Parts: sequence; C-alpha cells; structure tokens
Amino acid sequence: MTGLFDAELAQLRSAHLARQRRQVAPALPPADVQPDDEALRGTTYVIDGQTRLSFGSNDYLGLSQHPALLAAAQAAIARYGVGATASPLVCGHSPAHEALEHELAAFVGLPRALYFYAGYAANVGMIPALVGRGDAVFSDALNHACLIDGIRLSRADLHVVPHADLSALDAALQASTARRKLVVTDAVFSMDGNIIDVPALMALCERHDAWLLIDDAHGFGVLGEHGEGTLSHHGMAGLKGIAAAWQGRMHRLIYMATLGKAAGVAGAFVAAEPSVIEWVMQKARTYMFATAAPAMVAEALRAGVRVMQDEAWRRDHLRALQARLREGIAQAQLPWTLLPSSTAIQPLVIGSNEDALGVMAHLDQQGVWVPAIRPPTVPDGTARLRISLSAAHTMAQVDQLCAALAQAASASKR
Ligand SMILES: *Cc1c(COP(=O)(O)O)cnc(C)c1O
Repeated sequence: MTGLFDAELAQLRSAHLARQRRQVAPALPPADVQPDDEALRGTTYVIDGQTRLSFGSNDYLGLSQHPALLAAAQAAIARYGVGATASPLVCGHSPAHEALEHELAAFVGLPRALYFYAGYAANVGMIPALVGRGDAVFSDALNHACLIDGIRLSRADLHVVPHADLSALDAALQASTARRKLVVTDAVFSMDGNIIDVPALMALCERHDAWLLIDDAHGFGVLGEHGEGTLSHHGMAGLKGIAAAWQGRMHRLIYMATLGKAAGVAGAFVAAEPSVIEWVMQKARTYMFATAAPAMVAEALRAGVRVMQDEAWRRDHLRALQARLREGIAQAQLPWTLLPSSTAIQPLVIGSNEDALGVMAHLDQQGVWVPAIRPPTVPDGTARLRISLSAAHTMAQVDQLCAALAQAASASKR
C-alpha cells in the first residue's frame, strides 16, 4: 500500500512536479514595524530561515499586515472570542458577519451577499446549489480548480470552452438544449493576469438565456474605481450601485470574490439577487455543514473593505509598480516571455519545469522569492514565474527583482 505511494511520489519528483512547503513568517512582526522599516511590511519574509524579498503572495494591496485590520481583529477577539463555535445556520453567524455581508453587497453594488469561510468552499458549495443533473455548465478551459470541482460535484453536463473564446462559447450555448445553462469563468485569470470581457459575456448570456458566474478572486480590491473589482472596471456596478445601462439586466449575474487575496484576510463572498443568495444559503453544503469563520476574521475584513476605499493610493501605486516592472523586464531583454497583464499578476513564462525551478533558485540565491508555477496548475511546457506585485512593494524593490532576473538570465546562458 505505502509502497505504491512511494513509487508515485518518486515519479512526481523525477518529473520536477513534487511540491515543497516552506515555512514563511514576516521578517519583522507587523506589530513591531517602525516608520523606518515600513518597506519590510508585507514584502520581506523569513522563508525556511532565510530573509527574502517576496513576490509570491496574493496580498495585492498589502492589507494582510495593515494596522487597521490588525486592530479590528484584536477588538473582535476581545468582543467575541476566537471561535465561531458552529456553522452559520446553527449559531455561528454573528453581528460581525451580518454587517460584513451588508457592506460587501453595498460595495460591489449588488443586492445581497453571502460570506463563506473560503473561496474554495464558496465555489464547491454554490455551483451544485445552482445547477444539477440535466443542466449544462460552460466553463473556460483555464478556470480555477475549485470552479471545476464545483461543476463536477453538481453533476451538470460540463462543456469546456477554449480560453476566452466568445464565438466558441456562443456556438456551445446555441447547441445546448439544457433547461438551465450556467457560464462559469474567472474574471481575472490567476496564472495569466488577463481580464475577461464581462459585458460581452453578459450579452451572450442574455442571447441564450444563460446565467453567468464570475469568480473575481484576483480583481476584487485591485480593479475598479474604488477597488470594487471587475464589474466596476467594466462600468457595470460598484459603490454607486448598478450603472444605468445595466439596470434590470443583472439578475442573471452571480458575482463571487475571495477575501484572502487583496482583502488581506480570509474567506469569500457571493453577491447576486436576494432570491439567488437565499437559495445558495439554504442549499450550499459547504455553507451548511462547516463551522463559520471566526468573527475576528469578519471584523478584520470590514476594516479591509474600508481601507480599500479610503486608501486609493494603494491601487495607484500598484499600477506604477506594474509599469516599472514591465519596463525593467523589457530593458533586461530576458530570454523569457512576460505575458501581457494590467493586473497585479505578472507571469514570466520560462517553459520547462526544470528551467523554471532553475530560475527560481537563481533568484532565491539573490534574496528574491518568486514562486515557479508548474503543471497541472498551468498547461504543459508553460512553467512560469508568477510574479505578484503588492502595493506594499517599493519601486526600489521592483528594481531589485529586475536586476536579479537579469542576473539569472545571464547565469542560465552560461
Ligand atoms: C484563490 C482562488 C480561489 C480560492 O479561494 P480561497 O479563499 O483561497 O479558498 C477561488 N478562485 C480563484 C480564481 C482563486 O484564485
């Protein structure tokens, strides 16, 4: 029995596909950061005992160590304790969770929101609540694993559509005779950084009477006028409500975003028409049969959503860092391909798994941490460094990354 796993593990290792966890902690405890050390906050970590400048986190706005979020969590511990004690439908739903849901709905401009303890749980629980046997789901080929798992669990017919191919989607929807049709897509693709054309997708869904579920894990907080995400980026909905052109048309949209990335804490929410949300709350098994997230998480998130709005400079700075990085990489004339991206995710495609790990190791030797992403997370032959920027980074830190990449490139030529 264990011999079988040993053989399979050996196979993973020889294909350079075995993964390794590192032990990661902030180089300076966030509570101890002094004004002179601000550049360390959310950027510099001790990774397996070595201090590294990190471009690996999804902490796009640098909120995971923000003083306002830390204070909110501490106050909530004093008020509620540390555990939620039960699932939300039993007795785990606190005034903090309730307030968070109202504030999230108002922020993205949709009628009602439901908070889940994790994005994975939201997708895996919500999709089987929305569709079942005899229904059809149309899923982008690069969708996140938890969307795919949710679709499989639903037992609906799965149609995988080539990435961001609207005419293929049109044809697939046209050919389907299913009673219920659900189109499912990432809004910002997590390993590529490209933004989906939501208005065009909505128009297709209207034409074929389909629902549209978008997962905005990487757009929420980063895109949009106040950080409301991809819907605001496209002028559809946000803090000011639903835009005039989209009034009466949002009933077919189900919006989902995670809160462990730009929002800096943990969990996710789904926002849609009240009856859709009520149904998901009644039926999503990951909502019903899992202990609620602690109230301290909800309170930290409420603070995070306020900071997103109040500190617009974080998004401006993030865009400036993106421009600096893209310019620096262009000047370094690296033998690798930086994918086009106007988000915090800046993927540098290396090719083979071994080469990607080699470049990662060269950067590591220079004190810079960028994770290599390999199949099955990305297609075969497109192993990449997933450079992820945070508003916590400084321009000088981005310059340091570019210099390290140039070094790694010249080392790989030798
Ligand atoms: C990270 C991610 C999730 C999962 O969210 P968690 O809160 O980490 O469970 C879901 N969808 C996408 C696109 C993601 O990138």
